[in-house]
Amino acid sequence: EKLDKYHETSNKTTFSFEYFVPKTTQGVQNLYDRMDRMFEASLPQFVDITWNAGGGRLSQMSTELVATSQSVLGLETCMHLTCTNMPVQQIDDALESAYNSGCQNILALRGDPPHDSQQWTPIEGGFHYAKDLVTYIKKKYGNHFQIGVAGYPEGHPEETVFENNLKYLKEKVDAGASFIITQMFYDADNFIQWCKDVRAFGIDVPIIPGIMPITTYDTFLRRASWGAINIPREFTAQLDPIKDDDELVREVGTQLVVQMCQKLIDSGYINHLHLYTMNLEKAPLMILERLGLLPTEGEVINQNSSNFPWRKSL
Ligand code: FAD
Repeated sequence: EKLDKYHETSNKTTFSFEYFVPKTTQGVQNLYDRMDRMFEASLPQFVDITWNAGGGRLSQMSTELVATSQSVLGLETCMHLTCTNMPVQQIDDALESAYNSGCQNILALRGDPPHDSQQWTPIEGGFHYAKDLVTYIKKKYGNHFQIGVAGYPEGHPEETVFENNLKYLKEKVDAGASFIITQMFYDADNFIQWCKDVRAFGIDVPIIPGIMPITTYDTFLRRASWGAINIPREFTAQLDPIKDDDELVREVGTQLVVQMCQKLIDSGYINHLHLYTMNLEKAPLMILERLGLLPTEGEVINQNSSNFPWRKSL
């Protein structure tokens, strides 16, 4: 009966999809086909295109995908951009390309070091942290771009002093970020407590939870361990006995994620879900459908970019 609540209110929770840049041109074509199919079933409030830390060939693909998504497909698009291990010229080029394609949303990130090194090298111009990129974008483009930053409900893996996570998050917001997208997580109670802490710390921009669908048991465990994410006991208890049956894992995993999302929505701290699609269509759509968030038949879909939910609060 909970789901009915969302049909009754006009204030339905909104959602967005995140896509990463495929390595080949054929992969990009497949992604466009997939996006087409997904948007037939659902209209996200916006889409995110990730950035390959360190720049290189794939970053060129990022800006192309952003341009297509924004100006050809007409979707409100948010471009991720990292600021370490990369010449400052590349940051300038990426921002200019986003600007020229009509994209007005950037998720400003530090990036991770390349896989073969534990360290990363700050580049000329003083880009040590995501905060520095936020400041740079504000200085260069004023209020043209709406800037988002990353948040870590379970702490950033490199940060040894937990309280510093909120301090550095606030620095990013004070530098000009107007929304937060979080790292994936499965512990809803911890997330809700973190939202309380974020608010108590004086950070008042919208918090958007990053939702990672569960597709196979292996990827579920790998991603959780990669992000240093706590796996609640209930998840392991339900998924471990069926770990070899991918279809069942997706089914039960979806149910667990749906329950988690419902809890987040009920907490009142969030009104938007950001789905890490991992460029797959089925699992994200299953989650939205079960939450009652896909458009119902006959519902008018208004995809006006002025609907971007937090732009109004600028
Ligand atoms: P920062 O906020 O700069 O933090 C980095 C580290 O420095 C943290 O440990 C923090 O505690 C510490 N720190 C921050 N400020 C200070 C300070 N003033 N003094 C001392 N220490 C400080 N990576 C990609 O390569 N491409 C992507 O597209 C991408 N998308 C992402 C999307 C989301 C929603 C999230 C959550 C992460 C994404 N990442 C992506 C990963 C991200 O680049 C890494 O998590 C990276 O390690 C940290 O980036 P950040 O922007 O949070 O960095």
